[in-house]
Amino acid sequence: MSYFDNGAQYKCSQCGRKFPITEIHYLCEDCGRNWQTGTPLTGVLETIFDYDLISEYLDTIEPDWSLLSAIDNLYFPNYPVGKTPFVYAQDLSNEHNLYIKFEGTNPSGSLKDRASFLVVAQALQFGNKEIVCASTGNAASALASVCAAARIKAIIYVPASAPRAKLVQMQLAGADVRKIDGSYNDAFAASIEHTKKHGTLNRNTSYHPLTIEGKKTVSFEIFQQNNFYNPDYIIVPVGDGVILAGVYKGFCDLFQIGVIDRLPCLISVQAESSDAVNRYIETGNYSDAENPTTLADSISVKTPANLYMAAKAIKQTQGLTVTVSDEEIFPAQKEMFRKTGIFAEPAASASMAAYTKLKSVLEPDSQVVLLVTGHGLKDIESIPDE
Ligand SMILES: *Cc1c(COP(=O)(O)O)cnc(C)c1O
Ligand SMILES: [Zn+2]
Repeated sequence: MSYFDNGAQYKCSQCGRKFPITEIHYLCEDCGRNWQTGTPLTGVLETIFDYDLISEYLDTIEPDWSLLSAIDNLYFPNYPVGKTPFVYAQDLSNEHNLYIKFEGTNPSGSLKDRASFLVVAQALQFGNKEIVCASTGNAASALASVCAAARIKAIIYVPASAPRAKLVQMQLAGADVRKIDGSYNDAFAASIEHTKKHGTLNRNTSYHPLTIEGKKTVSFEIFQQNNFYNPDYIIVPVGDGVILAGVYKGFCDLFQIGVIDRLPCLISVQAESSDAVNRYIETGNYSDAENPTTLADSISVKTPANLYMAAKAIKQTQGLTVTVSDEEIFPAQKEMFRKTGIFAEPAASASMAAYTKLKSVLEPDSQVVLLVTGHGLKDIESIPDE
């Protein structure tokens, strides 16, 4: 997209105030000012574009999706993100046209590569030499990997309890890994503190608006791999709610440039013990997930950072919420592996568990996409013995 001004700017999702994309911004200076660590983020920034101009330039037969990128592709790191398989999973359903979008083939093994990729691109544009982030595991292994490709230093705050494979990825990629004897919430707070003290670029999910923009690219791929049709339903595993908001943003962008005329219905799947987003959508009242004990570590979140945007994505798409237990996740992991050859980590298997639970209420013969967010080899310790 070099030399093409797509009009990208940040816009506060709450008050609408705009901020230039040529500067680093996290939360809205008004709505995010009183945000307290340990509560869902307020004033999360969206990225908007000059959609009329983009629709004029976009080749609809071989689209260059970087026209819808907040960072010029001139700065993209040399790292093979995305272009993940979109597979017809015939043997998993008699009732629906079921497809799997398998994000486990990203280089670090999860969809998080998409978010890290764009934040690293911004660092390359602005000349930042270090990036800090908090993570349940995958965001950090993705950041460490993309940073290695870009020769940038990654500083990572992560709960010491993160699965070993993820910790190994970070360490071997050369990141500065700071294990926190506490929860993901504590790691989040520590990384924000780090940025306040040292001014380091912060990749925390949804705190940095480009994490949402990076994740939205999965929607462009689904749309294109689906022969430029919208699926009817997309089932998305939800922790902080950034993947869900990203998937929604991708389809909203497609709607804005006029290539689709409706949005797919989005389904939020959460773990029983980590259900703060779903409860908020269902009741309109927020409270933390009291004690997230799920073994699906990537969706084990007490205080979802991107609560409000995730809730909007469900409301605006007439979406659904569903909650699954670990006793449903592990059999779903096995079933998907045995019937498709796709091995998903526990959090990523939640979309299969959700499908099994929900299939009787989904429109018969409709097209359903399971977003399978990460690779099974990421976490084998948690899998129960046969
Ligand atoms: C991060 C992650 C999720 C949840 O994404 P959020 O943006 O936190 O909702 C789901 N699955 C996998 C494999 C992940 O790494
Ligand atoms: Zn605002």
